[in-house]
Amino acid sequence: MKLSDSTLLRQLCYINGQWAAADSGRSFAVTNPASGEQLATVPEMGADETRRAIEAARVAQPAWRAHTAGERAKVLRRWFELLLANQEDLAQLMTAEQGKPLAEARGEIAYAASFIEWFAEEGKRIYGDIVPPHHADKRVLVTKEPIGVCAAITPWNFPAAMITRKVGPALAAGCCVVLKPAEATPLSALALAELAERAGVPAGVFNVVTGDAPAIGGELCANPTVRKLSFTGSTEVGRILMQQCAPTIKKLSLELGGNAPFIVFDDADLDAAVQGAILSKYRNAGQTCVCANRLLVQEGVYDTFVEKLGVAVAGLRVGNGVDDGVTQGPLIDAAAIAKVEELVEDARSKGARVVCGGKPHSLGRTYYEPTILANVTPAMRIAREEVFGPVAPVFAFKTEADAVAMANDTEYGLASYFYTENLARSMRVSSALEYGIVGVNTGLISTEVAPFGGMKSSGLGREGSKYGIEDYLEIKHVCIGGI
Ligand code: ADP
Repeated sequence: MKLSDSTLLRQLCYINGQWAAADSGRSFAVTNPASGEQLATVPEMGADETRRAIEAARVAQPAWRAHTAGERAKVLRRWFELLLANQEDLAQLMTAEQGKPLAEARGEIAYAASFIEWFAEEGKRIYGDIVPPHHADKRVLVTKEPIGVCAAITPWNFPAAMITRKVGPALAAGCCVVLKPAEATPLSALALAELAERAGVPAGVFNVVTGDAPAIGGELCANPTVRKLSFTGSTEVGRILMQQCAPTIKKLSLELGGNAPFIVFDDADLDAAVQGAILSKYRNAGQTCVCANRLLVQEGVYDTFVEKLGVAVAGLRVGNGVDDGVTQGPLIDAAAIAKVEELVEDARSKGARVVCGGKPHSLGRTYYEPTILANVTPAMRIAREEVFGPVAPVFAFKTEADAVAMANDTEYGLASYFYTENLARSMRVSSALEYGIVGVNTGLISTEVAPFGGMKSSGLGREGSKYGIEDYLEIKHVCIGGI
């Protein structure tokens, strides 16, 4: 790992403005999925350290909240600029611990920074209302106030952006945060804390605790000081956290699993659809919650689409993300590749045709060949389960109604995509899809300016955009009488 500023590699947690080891002195290793090499160790913290971080956030909360939004925005602006100034180092760190190609890592740092800039500005526009009163001698004011101490638990697939799109709005709104990053990618989180400190984020306002997920998560959920939890990860863990938050009635934002349909109609621009499918399916080696999980292609163009997709997939290059020209890195760990192999095997055994790939890559470790499966049917597990790998299962459908029914036949409702050149169809289908995000003739839908979030078992709340800051606010009604 080549860093021009080696102080960005932090191997301690950040609590109350101090860099801290675990009480037990124990730590755990962070490894490079491309090579298995150990990169660093970080503290194995638990409930006690988490409780102290929450207490630090509680103490810091009144002063942070008392600043004007403009004052907070100045600090956040510096943090944003430091992310961009250190983009290359942060990208190197991310590729080393997560595996994605450097070009994607650089893109993620810019994307991560954009949330800080966006919310720094949005914080200035947390307007209330003056409501026409219900009695002549009353006045009704509605204000929005920071909810208080927030907890954030984030995944490894976007080690920086999943943090800033929670911490950005929280800090902008006047809340303090305790973050638990994923075990696989704590180095990006700690580098963000280092830059937050340099930007002038006061002690206790942003804290990072690494270690035992159930112990730290248990404390974050049970502690009554924490008023809100924002989580991105699996639906399974989201359910556990929701239950654990019930006793203290915390506000929740949950960005959970998806099972994104990618529909190609007969009247689509097939070349554009192939390009979109490549971006949506193979980015980050298929390890994003908005990755196309099911390609639904209308009968008339099925064979042509599969053939064109095969040509495009042949152009992908698998390898270590730091090497030039690599477009697909390794999967995150052995469990990830085992899941991909299991789902591909299940599909194959039930009659799917392997168009290309279909097996681990000759590079070994957790590298997997970019794969296309044809003749996939709803009876196969891959129709219901998120593959989270570089495998595109292609289903056939007959009519628009069939496509919509198949697309909605899942417990999930995060991202969906479809390609058509027909305006009326694009309006009909986008309103029929039970998804929080609909990409029409595009495979890339993530941006800080638009709301990101899911329906059904994909979660609660929205991140990014003017809506994203609402999750960190409480509404207060002030009723003034005797006027
Ligand atoms: P993924 O499949 O992306 O690894 P997870 O839901 O397992 O999804 O992990 C997302 C985040 O949730 C990670 O930071 C992980 O450490 C954390 N996590 C996992 N289990 C728990 C738990 N029981 N309590 C709190 N956090 C957890």
